[in-house]
Amino acid sequence: MEVEDHYALLLGINSPWEISSVDLKLDQHRVDVVIEYSDDGGACPDCGVICPKHDDRKSRTWRHLDTMQFSTYLHCQLPRVRCKAHGAKSLEAPWAGKNSRFTLLFEAFAVRVLTAARSVEEARKLLGLNWHQVEAIKSRAVERGLKRREEVAIHFIGIDEKQFRSGHRYISSLVDLNGGRVLDVVEERTEAACNTLISRALTTSQQAQVTAVALDMWKAYANAVTEKLPQADIVHDRFHISQHLNEAVDQVRRKENKQLVEQGDERLKGSKFLWLTNEENQKEKHAETFERLKNADLKVARAWAIKELFRDFWSYGDADSAEQHYEKWYAWAIRSQLDPIKKKAKMIKTHLANILTYFKHRISNAAAEGLNSKIQTVKANARGYRSFEGFRNSILFYCGGLEMAP
Ligand SMILES: [Zn+2]
Repeated sequence: MEVEDHYALLLGINSPWEISSVDLKLDQHRVDVVIEYSDDGGACPDCGVICPKHDDRKSRTWRHLDTMQFSTYLHCQLPRVRCKAHGAKSLEAPWAGKNSRFTLLFEAFAVRVLTAARSVEEARKLLGLNWHQVEAIKSRAVERGLKRREEVAIHFIGIDEKQFRSGHRYISSLVDLNGGRVLDVVEERTEAACNTLISRALTTSQQAQVTAVALDMWKAYANAVTEKLPQADIVHDRFHISQHLNEAVDQVRRKENKQLVEQGDERLKGSKFLWLTNEENQKEKHAETFERLKNADLKVARAWAIKELFRDFWSYGDADSAEQHYEKWYAWAIRSQLDPIKKKAKMIKTHLANILTYFKHRISNAAAEGLNSKIQTVKANARGYRSFEGFRNSILFYCGGLEMAP
């Protein structure tokens, strides 16, 4: 068997495509394989009618999987056929996707490496590609994956905002909570953006099948959901609510610390995380300090206790008992004389109906917690994204649960 035949087998190249030469450049660690088209006709790519060959296009190059550490390139002058109905048409290379500079096998391998590597940079180096080539492979992979997505019923979704780059640029994401995958992301966090997001992520019939949506208490999102998904319950996300309460505790602490320091009392210095960490997760070495602080006559200790009491809300078995607990909690919070706490208590009161829906559906955006950390990784890698499109591609590539092989 000639080396050309070996390569034909390796590359899966069949008649009328033939390997005419294999050029091994030892010093450059490189193999160049030239492929020719041996037939004098072929099927028109538009209508499939067999037509006579017209001419050859100029030679093109595709990167293939390395063979024994040798970079392997395919070269071919793709033939054109002359169709009576469609004119001169180039035949497509069976070993590559349209407009790709890589063979299908190479792209399939690159997608695997990219999904397995810890960072795009690591994958890029392993594959010997530049940034643009990697982005093009990811973008084609996402396109294939989105086309293959099946229209299944998705009952529980989460809509959430994420910061994109530094500053105050936001994106909105729509997550399939049971499937643990991001369905789509859009720029901004306005009502219009959220409308667009819902239309892009879900078909009209999928929209009609949504049962409940986990959301922060963000008016723009709630408006969009009410308009686009009128049958769906809104469930204000419990982790956003605890974030709000933590914020209030922190505001109380900062203000009180300032006042105390002016009087020479430094008890609250460096105590920020003690108040924000759940008590059961507190490190042992801090236990004694925290025990003393939380029992002291401090405003922040009161704010903290109020926040802690609200945590019990979520452990009730039904909405009625939870609401009774809330009533007691609210009475305490609103009389606390702590403005940040009172403000959050009022916010919770306004949204109570859509917080109690939690006991019917038990969903939250943190159900997709693994997903959120994946998105964080994409964000950490996002410094290089000049455009939102590149960022969207990356999120869908890593978090979209797509079937992306060529
Ligand atoms: Zn034709």
